[in-house]
Amino acid sequence: MLKNDMLEQWDRESFFHPSTHLAEFARGNAPHRVIRGGQGSHIEDRDGNRLLDAFAGLYCVNVGYGRQEIAEAIAEQAKELAYYHAYVGHGTEASITLAKMILDRAPDHMSKVYFGMSGSDANETNIKLVWYYNNILGRPEKKKIISRWRGYHGSGLMTGSLTGLELFHKKFDLPLSQVIHTEAPYYYRRPDLSMSEAEFTAHCVAELEALIEREGADTIAAFIGEPVLGTGGIVPPPEGYWDAIQEVLARHDILLIADEVVTGFGRLGSMFGSFHYGLEPDLMTIAKGLTSAYAPLSGSIVSDKVWKVLEQGTDENGPIGHGWTYSAHPIGAAAGVANLKLIDELKLVENAGEVGAHLNRAMAEAVGGHANVGEVRGEGMLCAVELVADKETRQFFDASEKVGAKVSAALLEEGVIGRAMPQGDIIGFAPPFCLTTDEAEEIAGKTAKAVKAVLG
Ligand code: PMP
Repeated sequence: MLKNDMLEQWDRESFFHPSTHLAEFARGNAPHRVIRGGQGSHIEDRDGNRLLDAFAGLYCVNVGYGRQEIAEAIAEQAKELAYYHAYVGHGTEASITLAKMILDRAPDHMSKVYFGMSGSDANETNIKLVWYYNNILGRPEKKKIISRWRGYHGSGLMTGSLTGLELFHKKFDLPLSQVIHTEAPYYYRRPDLSMSEAEFTAHCVAELEALIEREGADTIAAFIGEPVLGTGGIVPPPEGYWDAIQEVLARHDILLIADEVVTGFGRLGSMFGSFHYGLEPDLMTIAKGLTSAYAPLSGSIVSDKVWKVLEQGTDENGPIGHGWTYSAHPIGAAAGVANLKLIDELKLVENAGEVGAHLNRAMAEAVGGHANVGEVRGEGMLCAVELVADKETRQFFDASEKVGAKVSAALLEEGVIGRAMPQGDIIGFAPPFCLTTDEAEEIAGKTAKAVKAVLG
């Protein structure tokens, strides 16, 4: 393809990029990158540089790039019927089939799938359903939602509020008042280093109990959490965490929303994070891995318990007043069906577990001994390297030093994409599930080089 010499200028003048330093970008001081192709775990930019994408886009291209089966399913659907809505009982073969395929994979007590376009809107739907549920049950005061600091649930008004990261609140007048935050289950950053994992879990539970006590259980509708904290730093929970949290929620009649946007469809080496850690959610949020990002599609999976109340609500009030134009978009649904088939055929969930474990081991060996690597942690095909100024005291680097961003830039120089996570100097890895053990070792080896290049 011919290079368009105007592209960089057009980009800097016209394109409002998400999660980008707007002023630096417009001035030409932040990178402009054009990606034009991808195959397996690699992408290629328009200058012909081939990069190992160890973050699978935004942990979403789970089956890897260039899958013709999915591209063809999308093309066939577009030719046959690009769009029809899903209101008042309409559907397409693809959307109905996909709902059935999702429920076949989800925990047994889940009952229905509502389709959206993004993880944010699916969480938005889940919060609305929880409010509707409590209104139908005659508990209009039971509305607050508990989220965790460092949780990530999207960047809408409600979902940006649920997200427990300062950057997503600052100057946006968030969080909204219905959202309350509790302790992040972040063992490495526990308040007292002498705490065992079990003691730290007990501490998180005590914090949750105290919050519920302070606010009143009759004002709290739901607790939302990712099975493994993702954008907040890739942090697997401490021992016994989910069992203990669920016991508290059940006692106070607080619903559990499992945000499986990252962990759904295999990233932990299990079909869902809920299976991996024994969660029994009332609602689940899915997106990213549902289509491996070949088309935008998300879902809210509703349990029997919640569904029965929603049905009662429509008996009393008429059709549910919630719908998107693109709910169950046929092209997204066709991509989803082809994607889930491919995951089964190629046994990609198993591969995510096995090669993910290899990546975590290789990373620990490659960088664990470095004086500025505080921790290497992960689960399945998720891995993080946390950089600290002082390993003993776990002291952070000064944020102005931008150590995480520098290491990720050095890694890019080596041809590997690892993501500097938005809070703290943490380099995250979430490769496609088709990663090979050789590629896992390449990621680890090049990360070691990048850490050395920046920190000596
Ligand atoms: N939940 C989780 C756990 C996520 O990681 C994300 C996106 N990174 C979202 C929700 C929001 O999804 P989207 O960006 O598609 O709105």
